[in-house]
Amino acid sequence: MKAYVRHSMGVVGWMEKPDPVCGPDEVICRPLALCPCSSDVHTAWEMDGAWLKDITLGHEVIGQVIEAGKDVKDFKVGDKVIVPCTTPTWKHPDIQDGDPWDAGGMFAGINFSNYEDGVMAEKFKVRSADMNLCHLPEGMPYEKAIMVVDMMTTGFHGCELANVRYGDTVVVFGIGPVGLMAIAGAKLMGAAQLIGIGTRPNCVKIAKEYGATDIISYKDGDVVEQIMKITNGRGVDVAIVAGGDAETLGQAYMVTRCGGAMTNLNVITGTNEFKFTYASCGGGFMGHKTVNGGLCPGGRRRAERLTAMVQADRLDPSLMVTHTFHGLDSIGEALQLMKDKPRDLIKPIVICD
Ligand code: NDP
Ligand code: ZN
Repeated sequence: MKAYVRHSMGVVGWMEKPDPVCGPDEVICRPLALCPCSSDVHTAWEMDGAWLKDITLGHEVIGQVIEAGKDVKDFKVGDKVIVPCTTPTWKHPDIQDGDPWDAGGMFAGINFSNYEDGVMAEKFKVRSADMNLCHLPEGMPYEKAIMVVDMMTTGFHGCELANVRYGDTVVVFGIGPVGLMAIAGAKLMGAAQLIGIGTRPNCVKIAKEYGATDIISYKDGDVVEQIMKITNGRGVDVAIVAGGDAETLGQAYMVTRCGGAMTNLNVITGTNEFKFTYASCGGGFMGHKTVNGGLCPGGRRRAERLTAMVQADRLDPSLMVTHTFHGLDSIGEALQLMKDKPRDLIKPIVICD
């Protein structure tokens, strides 16, 4: 079969690979729709490591089951499925410690295009299918459903990690698709003043539609000063980082009020250092501020819950789809677009059938 792979750092392309082999609790799917992600860009162009050689890229997909292992109960050949980008095996004892996404080691739940082949291929395998897949509701457009698998779960996770409460003042650093979902999630969780940081005009427009009350630009001077000004010197209850660089973490910490929370969702590459100055970290993390971060939770129940929110029209995540391609062959072009990030891009989608 054909797979779109990262041959080596910065070198991507098609490659022939053997068909995936279906284990007893696994399914094999064909992709119906795929989205490239900023994280694919990190994997393909910014991350190095022998284990990434010729790995199939991609982790955002809606699929159709073409083979099901003998122990799979709830999914059969022909079913259309939402495939969370985080698919733990659900078999590691660390799960009982409460963090299934990292059970067995950091990022262990995220196998696609991380330490096993991803989904940008004619066929891909999903492990622990009964525990990880979610049925695609009849009539739900792929453009909506595919946002559940990573963008919604990630953006919403920022709000969960920082425990957004009714009436909170929240700032979201970065209003690409991850930050936009953090804005939508914060509104749903009851944020009052909701500040987005970014400059792309269509992101600004959609941030406002999702609930942003204020937009500031990191290109218009010191963001810390700007945030302190519009919060009357108090700072924010919650800061969520979904863009920027290593310096952004210090800025987010600094604008968080004492006792508040900041959380990071941004995969930061190209540095070995995160800079917290004496001032930015409050003289040594003395302000009872919670600092957290994490990769997107996955699994079946979470995907079903998020899909239910889309079905109930709590939000329309397909507003973020700006570019549509047709045919699996166009995945390279769509991924390149994600790398180039033209100003009018939020999220590209490839419709495969
Ligand atoms: P985008 O590149 O589309 O968006 C980044 C945003 O950050 C843009 O709004 C950009 O502004 C803004 N930005 C850039 N520089 C700054 C700055 N100095 N201060 C504040 N904002 C800034 O990225 P995505 O939304 O696709 O992804 C965001 C990150 O999330 C990526 O690193 C991705 O890998 C990661 N990610 C993490 C996951 C997780 O599980 N934790 C899952 C999926 C993705 P502008 O409008 O000017 O472009
Ligand atoms: Zn992704």
